[in-house]
This record gives sequence, structure tokens and C-alpha cells, in this order.
Amino acid sequence: MSRREARNSGAKPLGPIPAGFDGIDGELAIGGHRASDLAEDAGDTPLFVYSRALLDARMAALRAAMPDKLALHYAVKANPHPDVIRHMARLVDGFDLASGGELAILQDVGIDGAHISFAGPGKRPREIRAAIEAGVTLNCESETEAARALEIGAELGIQPKVAVRVNPDFDMRGSGMKMGGGAKQFGLDAERVPALIAKLIAGGADWRGLHIYTGSQALEAEAVIETQGHVLDLAARIACEVGRPCPALNLGGGFGIPYFAGNEPLDITAIGAALGERFDNLPEELAETDMAIELGRYLVGEAGVYLARIVDRKESHGETFLITDGGLHHQLAASGNFGAVVRRNYPVAIASKFTAQPVEIVNVVGCLCTPLDRLADKAELPRADVGDLVAVFCAGAYGASASPMHFLGQGPAIELLV
Ligand SMILES: *Cc1c(COP(=O)(O)O)cnc(C)c1O
Repeated sequence: MSRREARNSGAKPLGPIPAGFDGIDGELAIGGHRASDLAEDAGDTPLFVYSRALLDARMAALRAAMPDKLALHYAVKANPHPDVIRHMARLVDGFDLASGGELAILQDVGIDGAHISFAGPGKRPREIRAAIEAGVTLNCESETEAARALEIGAELGIQPKVAVRVNPDFDMRGSGMKMGGGAKQFGLDAERVPALIAKLIAGGADWRGLHIYTGSQALEAEAVIETQGHVLDLAARIACEVGRPCPALNLGGGFGIPYFAGNEPLDITAIGAALGERFDNLPEELAETDMAIELGRYLVGEAGVYLARIVDRKESHGETFLITDGGLHHQLAASGNFGAVVRRNYPVAIASKFTAQPVEIVNVVGCLCTPLDRLADKAELPRADVGDLVAVFCAGAYGASASPMHFLGQGPAIELLV
């Protein structure tokens, strides 16, 4: 075995770098800007960079693939940065949020409540009040919450807009995170839904239909198609039992993105075609229903890059460590500590040597005093030294806002939309 092969045999694969990133003078460019220029403009590292052009391209491709009848909503929790929200407001038909804090961000940005729905278990009375005042549709997760919505609506003299979130009796095959099927803290078990809707209508609420969310990070079109079929069947069954047409149906989402070696992009053309066919043959209860899906990571995940600077390079027991000024406090998911069963490498590159050939196997780590703080394990990368920038891709969703930024007193990363 040559030395090169011996080295290769110890490497762990990196995830696939998303389309749309080029090199300028050998460096990674994001939205036409060199990584080093972005770091200089930001005045410090680490930083998240989100690309407008990539957000636009993703939305355009999705629009082209999906039936016209389908509204496309953005699930704010994937990336609630105000600049991202402001940009997405021009692209999507609505926003789905999951807390009063997210509602406050949308209100600051100036999003009309008529385009917002609010899901999530454990909504506090003050969050329900703020939502009703803003004309937001509440996706009710329980009987208690429905009763609170009626009570607060009556107090305010505002008819609350209420949809019911259903805990379906199925989940999404192959999804990375299951959020339906069996005992769950989300939604109301399907068989209890018609009675609650009757109560809401009798109580004077504006019943806005159903919300059926089954899972996240699905990469298999067939699984998504099958689930959407079940969702439509279930919604029709519930509407039939209620004895009214369903005003609106949020079909969930769960479209995944390729984070790891071997992952293939989701075939949205197949999903759009299957959905179009279903929409052409809807039962009476759903014929006039406003249809929507809500997507988070699929819309924003691949449009973001996390850039951190190498501050040290050291050897230990024959392994090389590139130590960066970033880490799991900003990119928890890339470290493998955000719901992963087995740690695998995200797509990672040396941003300042983006077009150079890989020549060595290194561990890219963060600056936190914990062995959990790894950004890439035994990655084959170009030679990098102190001062070089490391890029972690797929950082546009569940990065800055889903990581413990205060751990070890590190504080937040800079976030830029370019
Ligand atoms: C988290 C969540 C989403 C977004 O999930 P992604 O995997 O980012 O698309 C959408 N809807 C609900 C109800 C959620 O909880």
C-alpha cells in the first residue's frame, strides 16, 4: 500500500457541497463574494453567510416543481434572522412559526398576521393573545389550547382563527425526525379532532382547517408522496365527519437536504407531479381547500455557510488538529450533537483553499473545552494553516439559532445576508 492509500484508508467522507458555490482566485465565493472579503467586511470570525441568490434559486425551482394551487410557507424556526425573513417575505406565501418570540420577529419585520400560522405545543396564554390580536391562525395542539383561544378571543372581542393540528395515525417513512404517529406531544390524536372542531365552531371560532405534520429531513420522494397521500385522505375523512368542507390544509413538509456522504437530493419534480395528480382528483370536502406546505431547512439550509478561522494547528498521537475560532456553540448540528445517532461529517472545506486538492487527513475542531466540539472528523482536505478559513456548508438552517451560543461565554456569531 502506498503512503497515499494508507492515508486515504483512514479518511472519513465529507458530506456533499451544495450546488451554487464557486471559487474565485482559488477561494470559496458566496454570492459572488470571496470568503476572505466577507470575513473582513464582517470585522471578525466566525460568521454565517446566507446567499440571497441561492434562496431565490431554491424557491424558483420549488415553484416550478409544485402545483400552482399549493401555497409555499416558510417554517421560521429553521432560520429566524430578520434579514432572512425580510428576504423570504418576497418569495413565500406565508410563514409558520412556533413561538411568541418568532411572532415578535415577524411583527418587527412587518409581516401581516393574515399570512402567519402558529403551531407548537405549550403556547402560553400571552402568546395566544398576541397571535389573536395579530390575526394569526392558531394551529391548536390540544383541547386546553382551543378552550384558551376561545376564552381569550371572547375577552378581546376578536373571533380567533383556529386550525387544529392533527397527530396522524402514521408517520413519514425514512424521515430524520418523526413528529407524528403514536404517542406524541404534538397535535390532537386524529379520532378526537372532529369533536374539537365542532366545539370550536360552536364556540364562535373561525375554523381554519387542519395542520398535519409528520416528520422532517426526508430525502426519499416516494416516502413524501406516500405521506402526502395519507394526509389528504385523513383530512378528507375528518372534514367528512365534521360535515363541512375543510377551509385550509397545511400538508406539513419535511423536505430534507443532503448533509452526509451518500445522501441524494430530494426529487421535488416527482413530488410535485404526484401532488398535482392528487389535486386534480380531490374529494368534495377538499375541492375548495387552500393547500399549503411548510418548509424550513429545504428553503434555507443549503443557502448558508459557516466560516471560522483556524487559530491553531497541532499534532497529537499522529493526528492533525485544525483548531478554529468556531464550534458547536454556533453549529451544534455539524458537531453531531443535535439529534444525530451516529456522528457523520457535514460538507466542510478549507474556504481559503477551496479549489486546491486534498493532501492530508485532519480533524477540524472548535475552540470549546469539550471533546464534543468537532466540525469534521478525519477529513481529507488541502493543507491549511493558522489564518485560513474553514467553511461548514448546509449552515443556513438550525445553525445560529439552534446552537448554545452562550456555552463557555463565547457569544453569538455574526450573520450576513449577501
Ligand atoms: C420544525 C418544523 C418545521 C420545519 O422543519 P424542516 O425540517 O426545517 O423543514 C415545519 N413544521 C413544523 C410543525 C415544525 O415543527
